[in-house]
Order: sequence, then structure tokens, then C-alpha cells
Amino acid sequence: MYAVYIFGSIMAILVAAVIFAPMIEGHWREGKDGSSPAERKETAIAALRELEFEYQTGKVSDEDYATLRARYARDAIAARDDLGETVDSDACPGCGAAVKEGAKFCSACGGALV
Ligand SMILES: [Zn+2]
Repeated sequence: MYAVYIFGSIMAILVAAVIFAPMIEGHWREGKDGSSPAERKETAIAALRELEFEYQTGKVSDEDYATLRARYARDAIAARDDLGETVDSDACPGCGAAVKEGAKFCSACGGALV
């Protein structure tokens, strides 16, 4: 008698696994934090802006600033590459943010523009 319930429960779990497995797999494929490349790019650029602000206000040491800035810029570049975006002359090579023509430094991440 109970075997029917146990069998039913197992079937329900298997059906659930079949339904949810692709979602979980897709989640992992998108990135460790489960966000899309577009979201990761936004996050990295926001982090660069935040870091720049904190550095200007003296909350971050020169050493931490250099380390974190390199990390966020790398994240931004990786996300931008995942998106298939190409670097054009109007974009910062460090973070991909749009920059004004003739600008020497990026207003988003503070990186020097060549
Ligand atoms: Zn930049």
C-alpha cells in the first residue's frame, strides 16, 4: 500500500528534476553569480565608479585601489567580450563606458585613454 506513495513520490522528484535541471544548468552557464554578461558588465562598471569615488574621498588605499581597479576592469572587459561588443574609439578600453571625444581619462573608471 505504502509502496504506491513511495513510488509516486520518487516519480514526482524525477519529474521535478527533469523540469528544473535545464534551469539550474543555464544558471551555472551564465556565470558564478547567476547574472548575465550585461548585468556583470553593469556591476563591474558600477563597482569601478564606486571605487573611484571611494579613492577620491580617501577611503581606499593606493594599493587597494590599484588591485580592485584592475579586477573590476578585467571583469568589465570579460563581460563585454561575452556580449560580443567591440571596442570603438568612443569607449574606454578599461571598462567600456562611453567617453567624450578628446577626453584624456575615462569619467567612469578614471583610466587613461590612449
Ligand atoms: Zn573606463
